[in-house]
Amino acid sequence: MNRWIQDAGHGGSDSGATHEGLKEKEWTLEAALYVFDRLNELGIQTDITRTEDITLDRHSRTEMVRQYDRAISHHFNAGGGAGAEFIHSIYAEGEFEQKLEEEFAKSGYPIRRTFTRTYPGNDQQDYYYMNRETGDCRVTIVEYGFLDGPHLNQLKDRNYRVGMYECVIRAICREEGIDYRQPGDSEVYYRVVAGSFKEYNNATKYVDTLKDKGFDAFVARHEISSRVYYRVIVGSYKKRKNAEKQVEVLDEVGVSSFIDAYQS
Ligand SMILES: [Zn+2]
Repeated sequence: MNRWIQDAGHGGSDSGATHEGLKEKEWTLEAALYVFDRLNELGIQTDITRTEDITLDRHSRTEMVRQYDRAISHHFNAGGGAGAEFIHSIYAEGEFEQKLEEEFAKSGYPIRRTFTRTYPGNDQQDYYYMNRETGDCRVTIVEYGFLDGPHLNQLKDRNYRVGMYECVIRAICREEGIDYRQPGDSEVYYRVVAGSFKEYNNATKYVDTLKDKGFDAFVARHEISSRVYYRVIVGSYKKRKNAEKQVEVLDEVGVSSFIDAYQS
């Protein structure tokens, strides 16, 4: 299975596109967090470039993204136009973007185009740095719609936006061969939790520590009475017995953990 990362475009001092008080950076963060949470629920490994309204320069963003197999860079557009756009590298074929188009179309969302663009004067290089400077990571830039376009009123509706994020999730499920389940269509999993952190960065550091010990770990957001914690998960199981075994294995190398029944 691919390791994914969700990139929330812009952030902090970079608002991205703005229109009538709307800021692109807020919706890109919403999109990335939503897809991050849902993929976690569905058992698809993903990371995220930012979880807050912080400035991420081009270098730190691409450094992070190039550590992963696949990335979605979430954006909203401006500048006149209508519908969603999907952008891939000149070195990719566009099969995944085809799936995205199909899912958007099935759910009745307007689509503008899928495209690639070369660097001026160098047709061996990508125009967009998220494609050009992200190494072997296969990045798809998703432009959900135009802030100054004819669908602005629909875009202002959170449910309308979430419907598009679900289209992205369905396309990723198809790509990974995972059964798609709707939000709230729950199944119980037993998760082995090896740590809980207030800071996302501390959680990812602990993931690295566990990886050095040979464990496959990932970070999941956990909300308790509206406070967010970042939990380090070292295995998610349908059978409680298997989770208990994992706790024992961790215990043997001095890592304490507990089991949490998780509804996805
Ligand atoms: Zn953007």
